[in-house]
Amino acid sequence: MDVYGLIGNPVGHSLSPPMHEAAYEELGMNARYVTFEPEPEAIESVITGAQALGIQGLNVTIPFKQDVLEQVTCDPTAERIGAVNTIDFSTDPPTGYNTDITGVIRTFKHHDITLEDRTAVIIGAGGAARAVAFALADAGAEFHIVNRTESKAESLAAELEGATAGGLSELPSVLPDADILINATSVGMEEDQSPVSAELLHADLTVFDAVYRPLQTKLLRDAQAVGAKTIDGAWMLLYQGVAAFEIWTDKEAPVSAMNQALRNRLE
Ligand code: NAP
Repeated sequence: MDVYGLIGNPVGHSLSPPMHEAAYEELGMNARYVTFEPEPEAIESVITGAQALGIQGLNVTIPFKQDVLEQVTCDPTAERIGAVNTIDFSTDPPTGYNTDITGVIRTFKHHDITLEDRTAVIIGAGGAARAVAFALADAGAEFHIVNRTESKAESLAAELEGATAGGLSELPSVLPDADILINATSVGMEEDQSPVSAELLHADLTVFDAVYRPLQTKLLRDAQAVGAKTIDGAWMLLYQGVAAFEIWTDKEAPVSAMNQALRNRLE
């Protein structure tokens, strides 16, 4: 039996097990996807132990995405962003990838949204915003990052081609000319709130909300009300998992079975 899994802390509410196991079932694979919650100080032995046990692949989430960098050979994308969310143990040393970035690019591709030469606004400068910003830079978009803590937006933009930064107060001046708006803050998750005033949204926007609990956030509902195209956060989650599955197995992922498994647990 092949074993894949997720290391993070906490991982109790992760949707990766049902998503990956739906793929194994769909393709008739003899495989399991297991979650592990190691103590931070044990991370080094977790990676060497996983390799010794013959685990095929691990996803990595908070707080370990940087901690594992020293134990893997990074692919160029993971190297550049400085974070690993997928480890492939078929090489020695294992190879580290960042499929959060791939997940963002494939999300827009799935919805037929071109990123090249488009103008985007990203709200947020944490982990999700970082993946979104690197994806947009790779795809050739021009984008403005705004964040509650402006200095964090400035640090992120300074790492990237085509990026500028500012505070949330700039939204009224930058949104009218934007093609794409991305919420990469946690606003909308705990409470039914939006990081953007509804009157700033317009029909020419594509609005992607990285928040996936709930799927239909206030931002997405407000965007639909003005006729904007909307993309929910489950797509990014799906496509980072699809990319990890394809790295580990060399098989084409059964995207619709994985999507269904995710949405069954979110809707
Ligand atoms: P994070 O690193 O903790 O960053 C949180 C971000 O939200 C920061 O920019 C923070 O601004 C901002 N923020 C928090 N509360 C705010 C408020 N009341 N007003 C304005 N800004 C606020 O978190 P993360 O890992 O990036 O996650 C952000 C969201 O993305 C979460 O909902 C998470 O579930 C989601 N996410 C989705 C995916 C996916 O695959 N769809 C992947 C990863 C994360 P400051 O810098 O000023 O604190």
